[in-house]
Amino acid sequence: MNIHEYQAKQIFAQYDVPTPRGIIANTPDEAVANAKELGGDIWVVKAQIHAGGRGLGGGVKLAKNLEEVRALASEILGMTLVTHQTGPEGKLVQKVYIEEGADIKDELYLGVVLDRAKEMPVIMASTEGGMAIEDVAHDTPEKIIKIAVDPAIGFQGFHGRELVFALGITDKNEQKKMIDFASKLYRLYMEKDAEMIEINPLIKTGSGDFLALDGKMGFDDSALGRHPDIEAMRDISEEDADEREAAQYGLSYIALDGEIGCMVNGAGLAMGTMDTINYMGGTPANFLDVGGSANAQTVAKGFEIILKNPKVKAIFVNIFGGIVRCDRIANGILEATKITDVNVPVIVRLDGTNAPEAAEILKNANIANIIVGTDLGDGAAKAVAAAKGV
Ligand code: GDP
Ligand code: MN
Repeated sequence: MNIHEYQAKQIFAQYDVPTPRGIIANTPDEAVANAKELGGDIWVVKAQIHAGGRGLGGGVKLAKNLEEVRALASEILGMTLVTHQTGPEGKLVQKVYIEEGADIKDELYLGVVLDRAKEMPVIMASTEGGMAIEDVAHDTPEKIIKIAVDPAIGFQGFHGRELVFALGITDKNEQKKMIDFASKLYRLYMEKDAEMIEINPLIKTGSGDFLALDGKMGFDDSALGRHPDIEAMRDISEEDADEREAAQYGLSYIALDGEIGCMVNGAGLAMGTMDTINYMGGTPANFLDVGGSANAQTVAKGFEIILKNPKVKAIFVNIFGGIVRCDRIANGILEATKITDVNVPVIVRLDGTNAPEAAEILKNANIANIIVGTDLGDGAAKAVAAAKGV
């Protein structure tokens, strides 16, 4: 789950990670009231959407008086902001964050992400803050440093020294501040079960202080149960509508950009199914784990969600019957085709308990667009052929 910048900054504040002061606004009136409350003579009006690149897209602007705050808030609220991360359809801006202006002397990058290969959180840092880190990684990868922190020992002095050395910070006082900043960020990352934190830019001010000018955070969904404060920050309107609907029916659905809809029980088998489709020369249109209860209703809902995607040319149902018997699933699939109109070929591979009976049921039903796959390879090959129209 991802959160907005203003929410990330609330969490930073809880951990004493320095950020500029700011107040969230839903309307231009609130924006002006917030600017007055903050005081000062320069403010930043920042679109709150779950995507980076807002600055380049016109969603982050400086205001030099209260009229400008009002004008910019009116302009940004309600706009559909298109950035390199939103896709061409963009995202509707429903809130703006009003922040006191900062005196930027230097823009750095600091993040913490999970490195699955190393099985450790990694602190990423760069002197090239303020621009898309993807571009820095592509053009000048040597300018990104990665410091893995073994969670068994946590953030130590030597990590801190490596960090300030890499960032070229030589002033003793500034070194101390940066090390303190990074160690708090690491603690936050671990305690809140974050998956990624990105601060771009982390600025050095004219007075030699470090401030998180931006903040992006994502959390491990499976750990949200022990973080009700984070769960409360969920913004449903930022999440994929189909994925949300699927979740309501106990289905784990993730949209992808291929042509073959997948319906599978179990996340591991679903991953294996997508790999096999790729191996056979096709592309999966989604990940869908129907979980343990593959009955007519959940299968019908699965078909419905898969078929909302106009790119889907065939559906591959790959279900292993363990506790759920294959004959019941076969009947469920037939039942589902009555509930939902399925207008593409459906390749069904059922294996496990009562698989032969299931194959009989499907064969006897004699429905033109239901094709039986005998095993994973055969099913995937038939799905790829069907999607290609052969
Ligand atoms: P992003 O484009 O979505 O990553 O949004 P950011 O929060 O990083 O803002 C984009 C850019 O706006 C930053 O890289 C800064 O250069 C600039 N910016 C943000 N806040 C301030 C501020 O307080 N003062 C000034 N001068 N520039 C700011
Ligand atoms: Mn940024």
